[in-house]
Amino acid sequence: MAIKVLKFGGTSVGSVGALKRAAAIVRDELPTGGLVVVSALSGTTDEVLKALRLAAHGDLPEAKSTLQSLRNRHDGVAHGLGLLAELEDVWTPLFRRLTGLLEGVGALCEVRPKTKDAALAIGETLSAHLVSSLFRQEGLKAAFAEARDVIHTDAQHGSARPRPAAIRASVTPWKTRIQNGELLVTQGFIGTGPDGATTTLGRGGSDSSASLFGEALQAHEVQIWTDVDGVLSADPSLVSDAQPIARMSIAEAQALSSFGAKVLHTGCLAPVARARIPLVVANTHRAHASRTTITVDAPWREPGSVLSVAYKEGLALLRLPPEEDLSRAIQLESELREAGATRFAFLAGPEGTVLVVRPEGPRCVSILANLADEGINVEYHWALVALVGEGLRATPDAALRLLAPFQLERIGGVFSGASPISLAFLVPEDRLPDLVPRLHNLWIQTRELTQEPA
Ligand code: ADP
Ligand code: ASP
Ligand code: MG
Repeated sequence: MAIKVLKFGGTSVGSVGALKRAAAIVRDELPTGGLVVVSALSGTTDEVLKALRLAAHGDLPEAKSTLQSLRNRHDGVAHGLGLLAELEDVWTPLFRRLTGLLEGVGALCEVRPKTKDAALAIGETLSAHLVSSLFRQEGLKAAFAEARDVIHTDAQHGSARPRPAAIRASVTPWKTRIQNGELLVTQGFIGTGPDGATTTLGRGGSDSSASLFGEALQAHEVQIWTDVDGVLSADPSLVSDAQPIARMSIAEAQALSSFGAKVLHTGCLAPVARARIPLVVANTHRAHASRTTITVDAPWREPGSVLSVAYKEGLALLRLPPEEDLSRAIQLESELREAGATRFAFLAGPEGTVLVVRPEGPRCVSILANLADEGINVEYHWALVALVGEGLRATPDAALRLLAPFQLERIGGVFSGASPISLAFLVPEDRLPDLVPRLHNLWIQTRELTQEPA
């Protein structure tokens, strides 16, 4: 039996209206059972993080009041669906646990990564129970299934790496239930580390949960339901006329998400690539609008053409002089990553080493600040703009042509991606609102994106 996995993001489960639309989609797409993966209700993860921060700073009353607003919001949605009485029993212990974790953080005045993951997991758990109750109310044969029974990861709290073999070994009972016509509803974003503690896959990680489940179940399709008409030719918040892309390769999707397109989590492409499963991106709020199908095989592209533009702001640029040993640069890179930074470029040459990272959290900030004392120059407020498309693969002259619009710009560096289908430019981040729409209009041939070649 062909299995499908559907994932609904925060805004797709964030209101009564959205949840009803999600239920209608599931009825259409999974008439004989399947797997539904859900994120926390939109904004929940940020609210839990805020409560943890408040507790760590000694403001437990304000932390608890943040939690109370979260509870009120969840209760409001459940009430709107006529499910409050049913959910009360399941939700109350979860909120009690969250309160306990906040009190622990308040007592220690610090948020340990393990505690943070345990607290964040409650958002997804609340939402998965809500969605499975809703589906049962709709007459579907739905049941909550605990994601931590299946998604095994390493111990890197906050950005845990999945262990595909262990996931495959644990998914068998779910597969049997799905093949018997059950509709399982589970949490995205969370897993279990080697010591049994809850881990999380990084912000936006529910997309990756969906593809990991898809790979383990040997699904024939994974669908990511979100709030846009598929993957677009640019971030719609910067480019209002960004166009939907009908088909793209996994390599294109990987490059876009790695360079900042938040519509797909960077970890969600590898599992579907390994299993050669198509990944579909569609809009919960406009189920019949266009959608994107992402496949291992690359669709035809005009040589030299660009498919989409992505960007990431808030980057720090480090230039290490040639007299600095390369091993020092490597050590620094790994120290920063362990402290929570994401690496965007690492280029070593005879003139020294260039490292571009996005610092995340106080430990990274202090490592970077200490570098100044060592005489290493750190420049802040850079952004990467990446032009992506299979059309760049075999056209070495594309880089020169694509550089033209940057003539009068301050450029911190030019990087060709690990795959030959992306070209990234480091620019001051305040240039993004002007530059991204301009590049989009110049380089992206939007007519091609919505239709297949004849
Ligand atoms: P979800 O909560 O469903 O996981 P996200 O907010 O994580 O949704 O991702 C969807 C958002 O990604 C869109 O609303 C859009 O603002 C942003 N985005 C950035 N780049 C792109 C792109 N190239 N195509 C589509 N959406 C993009
Ligand atoms: N709820 C998590 C987040 O906000 C995971 C996700 O939405 O995919 O990052
Ligand atoms: Mg997301």
